[in-house]
This record gives sequence, structure tokens and C-alpha cells, in this order.
Amino acid sequence: MSSSGSLWSVPPSSALRVRNTGPISDFDASSTPGFDGDRGDGEALLAKTGERLAQLQEMLYAEGRSGGNRSVLLVLQGMDTAGKGGIVRHVGGLMDPQGLSVVGFGKPTAEELSHDFLWRIHRALPGAGRIGIFDRSHYEDVLPVRVHNLVPEDTWRARYQLINDFEAELVAAGTTVIKCALVVSKEEQRARLTERLERPDKFWKYNPNDVDERALWDDYLAAYQDIFDLTDTETAPWFMIPADRKWFSRLAVSELLLDALDSLDLEWPPAQFDVKVEKRRVAEMS
Ligand code: AMP
Ligand code: MG
Repeated sequence: MSSSGSLWSVPPSSALRVRNTGPISDFDASSTPGFDGDRGDGEALLAKTGERLAQLQEMLYAEGRSGGNRSVLLVLQGMDTAGKGGIVRHVGGLMDPQGLSVVGFGKPTAEELSHDFLWRIHRALPGAGRIGIFDRSHYEDVLPVRVHNLVPEDTWRARYQLINDFEAELVAAGTTVIKCALVVSKEEQRARLTERLERPDKFWKYNPNDVDERALWDDYLAAYQDIFDLTDTETAPWFMIPADRKWFSRLAVSELLLDALDSLDLEWPPAQFDVKVEKRRVAEMS
């Protein structure tokens, strides 16, 4: 295996950015854009990436505990079976759970529906020093909601701008936002749904409704494309993550997260006490 840096011929932040990947309808979900290694290389690199991720996460957490207000938000979207839960487990699992806040968004409750669509999102944002992972997000309000006409068109059309404004505010307040759409192919989705029905340990993941949603595949692709065209901004970028190979999607999301943390130029917070004095006191303890 070559050294870690050289396995990416193009950094994922550029290779996977939606403005560079082409439309989602032509996107190859089994490709590994920018990455020259195979599965073994990818898994080995993920382990290394994970170590750096864990260290930077600890620095972010320390900063938050010391009065800093910065945080990171990773938004995960993707069709059923794309592997959002696997990203939470395998990428989130590389870090200290204390510094993570994972929130999944399902069908809105009656209370949530009585508020603006961003209400439940605001309440779930990561606090200072945290890395938040959203398993689904406010983008559901321009995905199933749009595809199933759950609100009038004027209402969902207005949401792209509301989302951009919301995310801009979030970033201005100290949250680094990265948005990843896991893209699974129809063939791979068929395989994953089939497997869920063949294994009792996977029944719990099977949702009969996923078959109905699959029938609306092209509508979902169109809705995703509008999201990319309308809400990929400099401050809150969108990435398309090929998700047919789980090792690659996990590696790619980890690298993007690492990149986001790197760009924070984190430092260990300085001591809030006199180190010399404290050293002496500890040395003199009975
Ligand atoms: P899962 O992520 O598999 O637990 O499924 C959650 C379900 O909730 C999915 O079918 C989502 O599309 C649906 N969902 C999430 N947010 C919304 C929303 N704002 N409006 C309608 N359906 C939603
Ligand atoms: Mg599901």
C-alpha cells in the first residue's frame, strides 16, 4: 500500500463536490472518484483517518469546554438502504460519543407539524464543541414532502431559499456544515432490500414502504438535483457520495469530516491556571 496522502489523486472535497460530479442521474454509485486504491487500501486508510478524526474531535470538544462556540454539522441524506445508519455507526464510531450528537429525523410528529419545518432542526443542532450528525434533515422537507405533494408547490419551492438563509446563519454563528448525499444504485438497493428479507437479523431494517418509495425513484432524483442546484453554497457545500461500496462511502465521509475539522485550525486550549504553581502543588501532595 502506498502512503495515505497519495491514494487520493483528487481530494474528496473537490472530487465529490456536486458541482464537479455531474448530475445525479448519471452518477456512478459504484465509482470511487478521486481515490486510486482498492478496498484494502480504503479500509487501512479509514483506520488512519479515524485516528486523526478522533484527535481533532477531542480538540474541538476541549475548545467547546473552554468557552469556544464552534461546532460541526454533518448532514446525511440518501435513498432507503443507501447506508446512512452505517455511516453513523462506522464514521461516528471512530469518535468519542461524548462529543457527538446524533439525531435522526423521521416523519414529523403532530407537534412538529404544528411548527415551521425548521423548528425541530433548530432544537437538534450540535452545541459548542460538538459534532452533530443528522440522519435525514431539513432536506426531507423538499424530498418526500415534494415528491408526495405533502404541501403546496409554492410552499416547498420557497424552502430552498429558507434553507440557504438558515444554513448561512448557522455557519456565521460558528458551525461548519457539510452535507453528504449517499447515492445508491437501483440494482444495489434491490440487493440490499432482498438481503433484508433473507436474514432475520435484518428484518428490523426492512420497511415495506421502501418498495413504494423506490417506484418514485426518478422523482426523487429530480428532487435531489434541485437540492444540489439550489443549496450547494460556499459555506454549506454538498457532496455526492457513491454508496454501492460501503468501504468507500465510509472513507469518503470520514475524509470530508476530517477536512472540515482540519480547516478549523484547532489548538489545545491553554491552561486556565498557573502550570508551574500547580505542578509544585501536585508534587507536594501528601
Ligand atoms: P427512517 O430514516 O428509515 O427511519 O425513515 C424515516 C422516514 O421518515 C422516511 O420515510 C422519511 O422520508 C420520513 N420523513 C423524514 N422527515 C420527513 C418529513 N419532514 N416529512 C415527511 N416524511 C419525512
Ligand atoms: Mg428506512
